[in-house]
Amino acid sequence: MTNTHEQKRTVDAVVVGAGFAGLYMLHRLRGLGLTARVFEAGKGVGGTWYWNRYPGARCDVESMDYSFSFSDDLQQEWRWTERYASQPEILKYINHVADRFDLRRDVTLETRVTAAVFDEATSRWTVRTDRGEEVSAQFCIMATGCLSTAQVPKYPDLERFKGKWYHTGNWPHEGVDFTGQRVGVIGTGSSAIQSIPIIAGQAAHLFVFQRTPNFSVPAHNAPLDPDYERSVKANYADFRRQARESRVGFVVERNDKSALEVSPDEREREYEARWRRGGLGFSSTFTDLLISKDANDTAADFFHAKIRSIVRDPAVAETLLPRHYPLGTKRLCVDTDYYATFNRGNVTLIDLKTSPIEAITPDGLRTRDQSYALDRIVFATGFDAMTGALLAVDIRGRGGRSLKEKWAEGPRSYLGVAIAGFPNLFTITGPGSPSVLSNMIVSIEQHADWIADCVEYLRNNGCMAIEATVEAEAQWVQHVNEVGHLTLYPQANSWYMGANIPGKPRIFMPYIGGVGVYRQKCDEVAMKGYEGFRLK
Ligand code: NAP
Repeated sequence: MTNTHEQKRTVDAVVVGAGFAGLYMLHRLRGLGLTARVFEAGKGVGGTWYWNRYPGARCDVESMDYSFSFSDDLQQEWRWTERYASQPEILKYINHVADRFDLRRDVTLETRVTAAVFDEATSRWTVRTDRGEEVSAQFCIMATGCLSTAQVPKYPDLERFKGKWYHTGNWPHEGVDFTGQRVGVIGTGSSAIQSIPIIAGQAAHLFVFQRTPNFSVPAHNAPLDPDYERSVKANYADFRRQARESRVGFVVERNDKSALEVSPDEREREYEARWRRGGLGFSSTFTDLLISKDANDTAADFFHAKIRSIVRDPAVAETLLPRHYPLGTKRLCVDTDYYATFNRGNVTLIDLKTSPIEAITPDGLRTRDQSYALDRIVFATGFDAMTGALLAVDIRGRGGRSLKEKWAEGPRSYLGVAIAGFPNLFTITGPGSPSVLSNMIVSIEQHADWIADCVEYLRNNGCMAIEATVEAEAQWVQHVNEVGHLTLYPQANSWYMGANIPGKPRIFMPYIGGVGVYRQKCDEVAMKGYEGFRLK
């Protein structure tokens, strides 16, 4: 799938990454008659859905929501098979989009962008790759994803482990058969929670090494209901509009009551109804779950009772209870049979809080209290989220200043899409935008549309460059922080806070003001001739 036509060395835009964001950005740039090159490290398009092939990988946002809205023919003709689409199906969809819109001819695969350097004299970026290519572009658009830099904890003895090890975010394409193996899964976030029930079904024995228990809601996945599909498709435009105006990029049944104003019976009924419906909507059961600790505690109590009712061994159930952070302030997980998996005879839960991992050994792993013989280790240990992939590229803006230097104390951006000191550079779903707190595709389309409109505006007005001002950026950063601190989110050691990466600055990175509100803000900025930006 490499290009057959002559590779262009000078283009209007370079796009880094060929996941949902990069592909749609390319489509929009093409529509404006611009030339673009997309560089992608993977052997295929798909980004997150190309790399995350671990057992049970599927999207927690429902398939009718988690798809492109820009083409009505596409959304009408494509048929999802399940309520929540699996990774292979989403990857098939992305490949279909790439073919349908003839996107592949501008995508260079198996090529990692290593550096991007801005030249003030020409207002252009020089983009370099690990294949030694150098491309000059007026615009550099980072579509590198929020969760794409896999994080394997630094155990000095990992190379001496005699078995095989994997990271969920970099899974072998041929799959892994765990039959008859003694398997250790480290981590209990979304990726682990999806894969553990399936690995447990194959392995001779599964050891789950848990540092922090998570709140997980049942998915109740099922074949997509044809009546529901028909009803959405009959009103898809309106369905999408509501998603764009919503708080999280898909419509969740709202309840404007406080968890504390209703009777205990009503509260229980509401939680039970959301639990039965399944999925991420649980955290919207009451309006104040993410802003009042007292309200949140009622939801946590409901969860604790559920876990105790599912897990037969009371000691195991107690270890699985999330207690030290409010529900939803670490990303809520969505599962199929996660808690019930701990009732299996071949599954052991190990609490790393009481007995931390001391070393990976040639034969497995040793905690403070015990050694575990393992044939396979699965690191479900997450990602250097939101900033990792951006900082992996040596990005240098005006005066040769590096992004790494600028972000040494945490990411600073204007609207999560532009950075002062880095003209003509855009970050799709960058830190400071709703991104990971939303349906990513809604946020991706919004950013790519906004960037395309901006580029068109610059062209029509004879501008060579656009750059966020330091003042606008500072105000936005302050606003993102203020809104974040109105919620309970900063109370958790989450990857939203950078807390999963040793040494990473503790800042609440996404914008929690809501997808609809954020869109309005971005539109206003554009309408006012790109307020907060300097145009050259
Ligand atoms: P994650 O949420 O960051 O979970 C990583 C897990 O590994 C946590 O339990 C963490 O414990 C543990 N861990 C990390 N380093 C460790 C260490 N050194 N020793 C022991 N345990 C360690 O990562 P993820 O599960 O890959 O999910 C990341 C995000 O990707 C999700 O939150 C979600 O946004 C997205 N995702 C979505 C889906 C979906 O839509 N279905 C599926 C998978 C992922 P601590 O909590 O103590 O740090």
